[in-house]
Amino acid sequence: MSRKIIAGNWKMNLSTNQGIELIQQIEAVDTKHTIIAFPSFVSLSSIAKEAQKISVGAQNCGAFQNGAYTGEVSTQMIKDVKAEYVLVGHSERRVILKENNTDFKAKIQRCLEQNLKVIFCIGENLEQRQAGNEQSIVSEQLSQVLSSFNTSELSNITIAYEPVWAIGTGKNANNDQIESMHRFIKQFCKESFKTQFKVLYGGSCKPTNAQEIFSCKSVDGVLVGGASLKADAFISIIQAAG
Ligand code: PEP
Repeated sequence: MSRKIIAGNWKMNLSTNQGIELIQQIEAVDTKHTIIAFPSFVSLSSIAKEAQKISVGAQNCGAFQNGAYTGEVSTQMIKDVKAEYVLVGHSERRVILKENNTDFKAKIQRCLEQNLKVIFCIGENLEQRQAGNEQSIVSEQLSQVLSSFNTSELSNITIAYEPVWAIGTGKNANNDQIESMHRFIKQFCKESFKTQFKVLYGGSCKPTNAQEIFSCKSVDGVLVGGASLKADAFISIIQAAG
């Protein structure tokens, strides 16, 4: 099996001590895969100091460089604490926090200025899938956010395909749905941006379905929410990658 990316999005969960304990358990696993943990901003510095083999990323970043933006965290601050990645475009930020493609474009720009790698999340909601519009939705999300970046900038970006209806619902997309969408995304990006992206799958990935998901040829890794909070579940997912 090729080298995969296995990323855990802790969302607004885990204290710093709980996060450190989790990192210590994951670090004990011998794996060739790239493991990334996305703790809260409050824990980011401590987790980045603790992690030796695991990479660490921020779940969000400010869209501005610095200045009077109360409550925001700049990409320079993220870089400062030795985080390597930033998650941009997660559906919870789109839907609950009302961020849009213009915000994501600005955030990615800020990340690239600091040499931070980006995991850019895209995906359709249930209504859009039921109407058969999933490809037009993801291609619009990709075009509106990525078309102004050059190929060298784009090489720092990984795509995470996360159908909104599969996030936190326990109901993952099946292999046919994953395979056809990942192939579509890769082909669309090749034609539109002359770039070969890695594409992660996200949405109710857990120990019981991880091996099946990894069996999809077009899956370069997974972005895991709920199942990344418990060491045994997350370690099972890492092991399922081979
Ligand atoms: C996510 O929020 O990115 C995610 C994939 O969540 P879950 O694994 O809990 O569906």
